[in-house]
Amino acid sequence: MTATISASTKQQVAARAVGVKKLYGEGEAQVAALRGVDVEFVAGEFTAIMGPSGSGKSTLMHTLAGLDTLTEGEVFIGDAKVSSMTDKQLTKLRRQQIGFIFQQFNLLPTLTAEENILLPLAIAGRKPSKDWLDRVVDTVGLAERLHHRPGELSGGQQQRVACARALVSQPEVIFADEPTGNLDSTSSAEVLDFLRDSVRTLGQTIVMVTHDPRAASYSDRVVFLADGQIVDELREPDADSVLDKMRLLDNLARVA
Ligand code: ADP
Repeated sequence: MTATISASTKQQVAARAVGVKKLYGEGEAQVAALRGVDVEFVAGEFTAIMGPSGSGKSTLMHTLAGLDTLTEGEVFIGDAKVSSMTDKQLTKLRRQQIGFIFQQFNLLPTLTAEENILLPLAIAGRKPSKDWLDRVVDTVGLAERLHHRPGELSGGQQQRVACARALVSQPEVIFADEPTGNLDSTSSAEVLDFLRDSVRTLGQTIVMVTHDPRAASYSDRVVFLADGQIVDELREPDADSVLDKMRLLDNLARVA
């Protein structure tokens, strides 16, 4: 009985890194971007990764998504070991199990919002269920804008199209790299509200790199990196508690 309860309450892990090291360059020019990172991202959670500039945030995200190789260690998306995949398997993994949201939106200007949202599925030869597409479009509040091209939308609306594009294939995990870096504070709040909603109501898993404590405060958990290692984490963060930790890390980085 106990075993059944613990099995059913065991949290599913959407992505994880085990003993990850990443070196760039050789000899004197060598940089240790990640120096032994162990971290798990639980399914259905919104995690923010923060840390001073150069602490390894982008490298961690890129290695998790199979966009960059590891020097040592392993990364998994769900149960799939990304670090031992062939290029072909990696392409399939990125198409089917990972969604990406970038700072620069990366929408195709000649396609409408709806065509942009459906493009990754079209490339994979898949069709979304109409119910799911309606739900995603509703959640991002784009129902009235589906036939507009990116140039006819505000920055916040364009980023919401990019969010819908990431969500529509129901990936195991969405990686968002500074998704509000190009937005004013009102549009940032809209996009972050939406990301949080997609975790709470659609059950999506999101891992977001950000340097903005306000953006991180929308997450369930903040993981702090410093000098290529995970040094701390906060649950149920607010902007002040995140800012305090960041100040501490910046000071430590300056002293080191
Ligand atoms: P962050 O995203 O926290 O700013 P990065 O992951 O971009 O940090 O970088 C971590 C460290 O690795 C930095 O010292 C950076 O200069 C170095 N680095 C990142 N990418 C490369 C690369 N392609 N070649 C050499 N060094 C790199």
